[in-house]
Amino acid sequence: MRAPLQQIETSGELPRSADTVVIGGGIVGVFAAYHLARRGMKVALVEKGFVGAEQSSRNWGWCRQQNRDARELPMAMRSLDLWERFAAETGQDTGFRRCGLLYLSNDEAELAGWARWRDFAKTAGVTTHMLDGAAASERGRATERAWKGGVFSPTDGTADPSRAAPAVARAILERGGSVHQNCAARGIETEGGRLSAVITERGTIRTKAAVMAGGAWASSFCHQFGFRFPQASVRSSILSVSPGAAGLPDALHTARISSTRRGDGGYTLAISGRGRVDVTPQQLRFSSQFLPMFLKRWRSLAPGGLQGMRSGHETLRHWPLDQPTPMERMRILDPIPDRATIRLTYARALELLPDLRKTKISAAWAGYIDSTPDGVPAIGEIATLPGFFLAAGFSGHGFGIGPGAGHLVADLVTGSEPIVDPTSYDPRRFDASAWGKVADF
Ligand SMILES: Cc1cc2nc3c(=O)[nH]c(=O)nc-3n(C[C@H](O)[C@H](O)[C@H](O)COP(=O)(O)OP(=O)(O)OC[C@H]3O[C@@H](n4cnc5c(N)ncnc54)[C@H](O)[C@@H]3O)c2cc1C
Repeated sequence: MRAPLQQIETSGELPRSADTVVIGGGIVGVFAAYHLARRGMKVALVEKGFVGAEQSSRNWGWCRQQNRDARELPMAMRSLDLWERFAAETGQDTGFRRCGLLYLSNDEAELAGWARWRDFAKTAGVTTHMLDGAAASERGRATERAWKGGVFSPTDGTADPSRAAPAVARAILERGGSVHQNCAARGIETEGGRLSAVITERGTIRTKAAVMAGGAWASSFCHQFGFRFPQASVRSSILSVSPGAAGLPDALHTARISSTRRGDGGYTLAISGRGRVDVTPQQLRFSSQFLPMFLKRWRSLAPGGLQGMRSGHETLRHWPLDQPTPMERMRILDPIPDRATIRLTYARALELLPDLRKTKISAAWAGYIDSTPDGVPAIGEIATLPGFFLAAGFSGHGFGIGPGAGHLVADLVTGSEPIVDPTSYDPRRFDASAWGKVADF
């Protein structure tokens, strides 16, 4: 069963022109379009399936600074404020709450790593509390066991993946933008070397700026006009359970299992970092660039199957613009979850959190997490194609930093002061060096 997702009514007729066209209605695309519409720009967002239906409704909902790589921490910090500001200025409910995140461990090396991160985060102005054994066991009492230590990040939180992207899309409409579901962008047109239009399955929109926020589809789209964006995806499988368990922390991470309270009172359960790598032509093309990433994470990754081939999101094929493309054949990337992982996750969750025995599995699903070789997103204008902006490769962190990423995109498109230093996100870094530093967490 698919991850739960609110459906929304969106715009009918496609505009003939727009100041900016945003391609992709995940959390990054909707926040980019929202921040553009908020500045009075005429923005059209096109989504091949439904707003939020891919990664942005399939995640845990964590919006965290805790353990963020130094390159992403400033954006994570600004994003938490932006989640709150969005609710205040629109009245839309994304389910965001600063509930705090709890990490528990019995591993001295892991605890020492968290303590080092705490010291670094303090220099950036982020407060996080290391917990000794007594405090960790008290905060983690739902596990009914003793812990050596932990960490609690009180200013972090969660939002509701089933409502967040649709809520932002509604706010785009309220600010005069248009949102078109079941409308794939097939490609682009240029004039004098600059972007001049986006071609969709329903017609052409003339524009001087386009944002590619297509998640796992971004690289194959860019491949159509010769831009090389190294991107690979991992299939991650998770499940949710019904309401009924009492006394669990809102958001808990341990090495064996993580749990997150959902908006409906149920919980999402997952094993952090675990995933399957489904072979695709694109995986093979970029495999050498992803070697450091896979070497760092190999313990939690396992080989997958051929479903990535069938999905078409990582094709190397060039498609004509006057015929249905792989995006129209796969409106919603909905990979089959790995049954063994689902069984193991549930068994570990019942063992760690006994009160979950009062609940039932309500759904299980998978999502393709799109990554860059260094685990940091690619956000910026493509140097060889002025007017075309890339915002993809969020490497498992994009939900929480969606508001900040969308703000940064709007800053770059409008030439405003960027909300954070964009240097670390510049897509050109992949030309300069094949192997960047892989993000720590
Ligand atoms: C199991 C799992 C757990 C995760 N947990 C967390 C977490 O707790 N916290 C966190 O911060 N992140 C988490 N993530 C990662 C997070 O979900 C993603 O980084 C984020 O949602 C990416 O957003 P996006 O908008 O870039 O992409 P997506 O949400 O994938 O959206 C891209 C959209 O673009 C559309 N599209 C693509 N091509 C086209 C086209 N040509 N024309 C029109 N539309 C197009 C697609 O249909 C899709 O809807 C998790 C991910 C998964 C799968």
